[in-house]
Amino acid sequence: MKTTNPKTNEPVTKGGVRGRRPLSIKWRLFACFGAFIAFVLLVLWLFQVIFLDDFYKFIKSEDAKGAVEKVIKAVDSDDLDAALLSIAYKKDVCVLITDVNGGVLTGCDYIPGCIIHHMAPSSVQSLAVAAAAKNGYFNAYYDIGKLGGGVVSGDGPESAPLSLIVAKKAESEKYGEVIVFVNSTVTPVGATVDTLRIQIYIITAVLAVTGLVLALLFSRVISRPISRLTKEAKELAKGNYNADFAGTGGYGEISELGDTLSYAATELSKLDSLKNELVANISHDLRTPLTLIKGTAEMMRDIKEENNEENLNTVIEETERLTTLVNDILDVSKLRSGAIKIERKDFDLTEAVGAVLERYKRLVEKEGITFEYRFDRHVIVRADETRISQIVYNLINNAVIHAGESKKVTVEQIVGESYVTVGVIDCGKGIPKDELPHIWDRYYRVDKEHKRAQTGSGLGLSIVSSVIALHNAEEPDSAACGVKSEEGKGSTFWFALKYQKTDE
Ligand code: ADP
Repeated sequence: MKTTNPKTNEPVTKGGVRGRRPLSIKWRLFACFGAFIAFVLLVLWLFQVIFLDDFYKFIKSEDAKGAVEKVIKAVDSDDLDAALLSIAYKKDVCVLITDVNGGVLTGCDYIPGCIIHHMAPSSVQSLAVAAAAKNGYFNAYYDIGKLGGGVVSGDGPESAPLSLIVAKKAESEKYGEVIVFVNSTVTPVGATVDTLRIQIYIITAVLAVTGLVLALLFSRVISRPISRLTKEAKELAKGNYNADFAGTGGYGEISELGDTLSYAATELSKLDSLKNELVANISHDLRTPLTLIKGTAEMMRDIKEENNEENLNTVIEETERLTTLVNDILDVSKLRSGAIKIERKDFDLTEAVGAVLERYKRLVEKEGITFEYRFDRHVIVRADETRISQIVYNLINNAVIHAGESKKVTVEQIVGESYVTVGVIDCGKGIPKDELPHIWDRYYRVDKEHKRAQTGSGLGLSIVSSVIALHNAEEPDSAACGVKSEEGKGSTFWFALKYQKTDE
C-alpha cells in the first residue's frame, strides 16, 4: 500500500521507513563519468604543468648523483681519464676531482654549459670546503647566463638554463680525501610547460565535452531499458498481466530481468485466474450445502412428516462436506505459511493406511466402489501420523472420484531397502501428460468444468505435496511423492517414507 508521511508528504514504505528516492542511474553515471574525467585532468595538470619543473630537476639531480657514484668507483682505476670521459659521455656531464681544499687533481670538461671548469679557483675552493663539510651530496644550481655569478636559489630563473653541480667527498687510495664534482645542465622547462598548458587547456575542453556527451549517451542507453521495465512493472502492479517485458535491451542482465518479470507476470496471471475460478467454485461449493441444509431444516420445521432420519442425514452429510472444504482451505494456508509444524512419532504405517481405507469404505458404502489393500508386512515409520493419514485420505478420495467405470481403487504398500511406498491406484481416465506437472499446484484442476461431488477444491494434492515438503524440510530426503498416469488407463499416486523397521 502506498502512503505518504503527512508532515513531509514523502512516500512511506511498508515498514514505516521514509523512502528517499535515490539518484537515477542516468545522473549517477553522469556524475561518475564527470568525476573520472576531472580526476584524469587533475593528474595531467599536476604532472605536466605544476610539478614538471620539480620533477625534471629531481630526475636530473638523481642522474648527477649516479654519475658521482660512478666516478667515486673509478677514481683509483689505472686509466682514470678514459673512465671519466666514458662517464661524462654517457651521462652528459662534466667531472672535476679536487682535494678537500679545492686543489684541482683531474677532470673531464665535456659539456658546453659547464661552469665547474670555468669558475674562479676561489669559488671552486669554497665549493670544495662546503662539500667536504657535508656528509653526503652537496647540490648547487648556477645561472649559466651569469657565469661565475655565484649560486642561485634551488629553483633559479625559469627562462635561463641552469647548471647543476653535485659534489660528494670520497676516499681515494691514490689521492687520499677527494671531492668529486659532477656538473650537468638543466634546460629550463618553462617553454615546454607553456606549450603543455595550452595543450591541456584544449584537452580539458575536448574531454569535458566528449565526456559529458558520452556520459549522457551511455546513461541513456543503460537507463532506457530499465525505465521501460519499470513502466511495464508498474502496469503489472496495477494488475495488467499483459505487461510486455520482452526485448527490453541488449544487456544480458536486463534481458534476464525482463524474462524473469515475464515469467512472474505469466505465473501471477495463472494464479489470478485460478483464484478467480476457486472463488467461484468455492462459493458454489459453500452455497450448495448451505442451501440444502437450510432448505431441509426449514422443511423439517414446517412439515412434521419430513422430520425423518433421511433428512437429518442430509443435513449431517452436507455439514460434513462444508467442514471438509473449510478445513482444506485452512490447511493449505497453514501448511504454506509454515504455521503447521509436523510432529514425528513412530507409528505403524500399514495400520494407519488400513484405518483410513476402512473409514473411507464406510463413507462410500452405497456407491458400489470396491477397495483392495495389498501389503505383505507391517512397517513402522517416524512421521506425523495425522498428516500422513490426511495424505492417504486425499489420495483415496481422488482415486474414488476419478475411478470411472471400473469403480475399483487399489492401495498397495511396497517395502524397499530403506523406503516404504504407498501407491493408490485407480483405473479411471488418467491425466494428460501436459497437465501432470501442474496438478500439485494450489487450486489446479484438470477438469475445468465444475461439477459438484465430482471435483474437489483443487487443494487435495497441494496438501499432499506440502506435507511431504514439511517432512523433508525437517529431515532431508525422508519423504517423497509422485504420480504415474496414462490417459485412458488410470493413475497411480504414491508417496514414500523412510522406514524404521518392519515386522519381518
Ligand atoms: P481436487 O480437490 O480438485 O481433486 P486435487 O489437488 O486433489 O484437487 O487434484 C488436482 C487435480 O488433479 C484434480 O482436479 C484432478 O483433475 C486431478 N487428479 C487428482 N487425482 C486424480 C486421479 N486419481 N485421477 C485423475 N485425475 C486426478
